[in-house]
Amino acid sequence: MTLSVKELIVEADRCVACGLCLPHCPTYRKTGSEADSPRGRIQLMRAVAQDILPNNDRFKAHIDLCLSCRSCESACPNSVNYGAIVDTTRTLYIQKKSVWMTIAKPFIRHRYLANLLAWPLWLIQHLKWNRLLRCLPPAAKHLPTIVKPMAWKPFYPATTLHKGSVSLFLGCASNTLDNQTLAASIYVLNKLGIDVHVPTRQTCCGSIARQAGDGTEATKLVARNAESFAESMPILTTASGCGAGLKDYLPQHHVQDISAFLMSCDWSGTQIAALKEQIYVQDPCTLRNVLQTPQAVYDLLKKIPDADIQALPGNSQCCGGAGAYVITQQDMANKLRHDKLNAIKIHHVAILATSNIGCSLHIAKGLREENLDVIVMHPILIIAKQMGFGV
Ligand code: SF4
Ligand code: SF4
Repeated sequence: MTLSVKELIVEADRCVACGLCLPHCPTYRKTGSEADSPRGRIQLMRAVAQDILPNNDRFKAHIDLCLSCRSCESACPNSVNYGAIVDTTRTLYIQKKSVWMTIAKPFIRHRYLANLLAWPLWLIQHLKWNRLLRCLPPAAKHLPTIVKPMAWKPFYPATTLHKGSVSLFLGCASNTLDNQTLAASIYVLNKLGIDVHVPTRQTCCGSIARQAGDGTEATKLVARNAESFAESMPILTTASGCGAGLKDYLPQHHVQDISAFLMSCDWSGTQIAALKEQIYVQDPCTLRNVLQTPQAVYDLLKKIPDADIQALPGNSQCCGGAGAYVITQQDMANKLRHDKLNAIKIHHVAILATSNIGCSLHIAKGLREENLDVIVMHPILIIAKQMGFGV
């Protein structure tokens, strides 16, 4: 939610400076600086809104370092709406014209443009044209595996007795980099008797633009999604980062993480093949702190016979994969990921389930850099495969 300046000050005034949020803030834990803590940032944002402090580069640096992980909100006894305060500050005071955002904007906004870009990259990776890969700019060497672009139908009917209808949110990153999870979601939903609508005019949730300080673009994207999705049925998201953005900015719609929705479905008679593996679950911050349904992922995976489902130790700390943060704040993003990689190594993790594309890409990149052979998958893809998806 974006506030007015007056509302921002009123909300910031609700912080009683108790400091209970401090140990939960990943950036404070790393820097030890009050200005990189939720309490410190709230004081700074209020002071800038009141014109007591200047809106200078030092102020911007402390706000830019915030991951918007919202762990502080979960810890706050006074329910201070930190997310609204920081989103408003970014929109009003940290507007930026960054080169990467200018380049990325059309691809984030239009799926077909992202697909146009994905096709040649997929071909280069798929056909292993290493020479061509070497000619691409250095950043391209860090590209994740690009999946073959998919065209979506607007409607996928239930394949068993009809029990309900939902809309599926595609998301800009998931559509380009993890369309298998989206296809797996449709497969599982249809098998459980759920009709799936995929509104063709839907676009990015707006979170990337908002975090980059481009409030105007974020508002346009929200408006287009508001027009595209019917209020009469739930909007399901496979990326909790998108789910959080939609929940905050489309309050008239019922936005749900797909695992939470699936746990409310009737699974009687559903065949799920056994999987004798240990699966560790990474809890994305947005699923824990905003959508507040992390347990559904564990409950869903526990439906797989013989699978041993474990929480990845250190789950309460953000992995650093907070959207564009991995580009704009690489140092902190890598420090936070380092802790995840350590947990993965210590516990000899072979399969990691995560419900957010940002976490998945960021962690997978770190695993590749350290030559660690770990499968990172969305929980829906794991269970869908055990139900016959892709076989
Ligand atoms: S949103 Fe996360 S990084 Fe930002 S102040 Fe709160 S706990 Fe710290
Ligand atoms: S826990 Fe809440 S009230 Fe206490 S310092 Fe943090 S934001 Fe302020």
